Amino acid sequence: MSRADQAVQEFLDTEETKLHSLKAFLQIPSVSADPEMKSRVVEAAEFLKSYFEELGMDKVEIFPTGLHPIVFAEKHASIPGAKTLLFYGHYDVQPTDPLGDWVTPPFEPSIRGEHLFARGSSDMKGQIMATIFALESVLKSGELPLNVKFILEGEEEVGSPSLEGFIQTHTDLLKCDMILNPDVGMINKDTPTVVNGLRGLSYFEVRIDGPKVDLHSGIFGGNVANPANVLASIIAQLHNPDGSVAIPGFYDRVRPLTEEDRKMIASNPTTDEEFLEVTGSPMLYGEQGYTMLERHGARPTLDVNGLYSGFIGEGAKTIIPAYAKAKISCRLVPDQEHAEIYELAEKYIRSIVPPTVRVSFIKHSGGPAYLADDAPGLPNLIEAYKATWNNDVVLKREGGSIPVATVMQKELGVKSILSGFGLPDDAIHSPNEHLHLPTWKKGIQAYIRFITSFGA
Ligand SMILES: [Zn+2]
Repeated sequence: MSRADQAVQEFLDTEETKLHSLKAFLQIPSVSADPEMKSRVVEAAEFLKSYFEELGMDKVEIFPTGLHPIVFAEKHASIPGAKTLLFYGHYDVQPTDPLGDWVTPPFEPSIRGEHLFARGSSDMKGQIMATIFALESVLKSGELPLNVKFILEGEEEVGSPSLEGFIQTHTDLLKCDMILNPDVGMINKDTPTVVNGLRGLSYFEVRIDGPKVDLHSGIFGGNVANPANVLASIIAQLHNPDGSVAIPGFYDRVRPLTEEDRKMIASNPTTDEEFLEVTGSPMLYGEQGYTMLERHGARPTLDVNGLYSGFIGEGAKTIIPAYAKAKISCRLVPDQEHAEIYELAEKYIRSIVPPTVRVSFIKHSGGPAYLADDAPGLPNLIEAYKATWNNDVVLKREGGSIPVATVMQKELGVKSILSGFGLPDDAIHSPNEHLHLPTWKKGIQAYIRFITSFGA
């Protein structure tokens, strides 16, 4: 029996006990956003600490932060000179309202069919325990070929206010060669999925000021520029007729998609029809010359996220508004620089604003895109997935961002492998969140194969 098969067997023999432990973890209402649950969040951290201690980890520590604690654990490899794998996860969960929509109470884990229903079952207590159970089975069945570390935070669902500072001040503790972050899902239960790209962001606000107050549109209309009209005209000039962004220089640094990139992106089986159905829009729209999947994660965008001007109450009020504002964000791809994109946008908008109004800008958040085709350990994980699912692995570029991956790359110098076993219909953040148990169990077996693969 191979080293991996021995550990998988250990898991299969103890599956029931492990499911029991997961349920106990899910019973703790670690809702990070609710001040009344603060002690329960600590209780979840302590649950992890005692589980790690029973497992015989070499170091386990709860670090207090300004809000909810960070749990750290470490186990040394059986062999000297081994590589170090760091698991990231969050043990806090989303609030449960509307509570009345839950079939069974959110913190009373209940199995119906193939699913385990509870808040946090998929996002991401189930994923955390999958990594711990995989390590447990490897430990109990023989040698550990890797140093394994865990960093588990309790603030992800409230924007991780303490995490970046903690990573910056604990780079030695977190030193590693590989990072696995399972806080993402699979495209479906038969297709193991790795997110290998995330888009960056540049977010800003444009304000157009005209008259000093809202003016009577009968008396003044026709003699002063209307800031709402002007802003609408500016926004209309931000895109070309082919759907591309009209800001000069916007695409200068965009890394073109290679044939190989396009092939990889096209291997995602999601169809245009499926994607359209989620949106409820009458039809898809986007930059010409690219597929929906390419536009989804591999092409940059510019969108108005909010628009405000004049009278927006019930009925009619005849004014020339004093000002108009738009909130605008650009989703960025490698190698665009968010600060430079902001500057290009400001420069272009200033160049098209007429002298009849004044323009001002507020720069909000920004962050770079992230590409991790070359994350260390990824080939081992892909092999482990293939062996477990007997199916090809899809590498997927995601449209959003995962800030922790960017922070870890900056502070620890290691790119994260983003890959977990949640499914699109797990209802994370919604009532009746659930975990597909057969997929979860396969996931544990895949992690076991991943960890043991480093022994070869
Ligand atoms: Zn999550």
